[in-house]
Amino acid sequence: MASPTTKMVLRRRTQAPKPLAEAPIIDDEDYGDAYCERCGSGDYAAELLLCDKCDRGFHLFCLRPILVSVPKGSWLCPCCSNHKKLRSFPLVQTKIVDFFRIQRSTVPTKKLSQDSQKKRKRSSTLVVSKKRRKLLPFNPSEDPTRRLEQMASLATALMATGTEFNNELTYMPGMAPRSANRAALEQGGMQVLSKEDTETLNSCKSMMERGEWPPLMVVFDSQEGFTVEADRFIKDLTIITEYVGDVDYLKNRENDDGDSMMTLISAADPSQSLVICPDKHGNIARFINGINNHTPDGKKKQNLKCVRFDVNGECRVLLIANRDIPKGERLYYDYNGYEHEYPTEHFV
Ligand SMILES: [Zn+2]
Ligand SMILES: [Zn+2]
Repeated sequence: MASPTTKMVLRRRTQAPKPLAEAPIIDDEDYGDAYCERCGSGDYAAELLLCDKCDRGFHLFCLRPILVSVPKGSWLCPCCSNHKKLRSFPLVQTKIVDFFRIQRSTVPTKKLSQDSQKKRKRSSTLVVSKKRRKLLPFNPSEDPTRRLEQMASLATALMATGTEFNNELTYMPGMAPRSANRAALEQGGMQVLSKEDTETLNSCKSMMERGEWPPLMVVFDSQEGFTVEADRFIKDLTIITEYVGDVDYLKNRENDDGDSMMTLISAADPSQSLVICPDKHGNIARFINGINNHTPDGKKKQNLKCVRFDVNGECRVLLIANRDIPKGERLYYDYNGYEHEYPTEHFV
């Protein structure tokens, strides 16, 4: 290994010390002694991944988020990929506006008065109180500068992972066509998003097109990788984001090493089952982490539900607050619970 690389890795280790940071770096030729940086064990060698840059080892199951299978291509450990990821997106309004393709004419500036923000909030609050269990639109942060910081944090994460921003499901040539997304195919049926909730979802989308985003900050955690925090208080039942990405047939993705694939349709005929793959096109949803649903502490962290809805005949996946979330709390939902629950159970 070239010495500049080694130096870079060492510097990184000093910046983010870990319990095992003092352990010697594994020699290039000495894979037999490979061990996991996280748990210190060399057991389960078949599930011990070696970083293509620094050669240090990590168990698939010791990584956060856990990797489900050995990646096909090259793989960089959290430390090495961290280096690349730490390049922050410039906090320049025009660049952020272009990156997210926000409608220029209505981009909020510092001139945007807080009054108009308050008006918007009040009107949504009014509608909400009329009926129980209605979904709520998110409340953007009032400070436009803070909103730009939130967007820049997402742009940083998207750039680092090579993801192009898209806030809608995408249908690419060679993958599943849009006509394949029929909620009626779902085995056992799918709950229909009410007319009012559909309007709320649409208004969330148009707010985002104007640059009024959910109050979320993407941060980098050395254990969890990118993760998302509430940047202001978020009320129970608030729509956080739609889960988006490229729609594809599950059968095309069976050997995929993407760890952020999401079920879109679980069809009676498995060949019609669809998944969302946010690795090429996506939004903030892909950076929201899953809880460990095997521990009581993990379950306590959950503050979002992932729910699939029939929206005008097509399936859409929404991440919704399932309790009040204080500012600064990280967002989590249950990756595994999804397949075993009827969507309607989330709200009863
Ligand atoms: Zn391990
Ligand atoms: Zn590495």
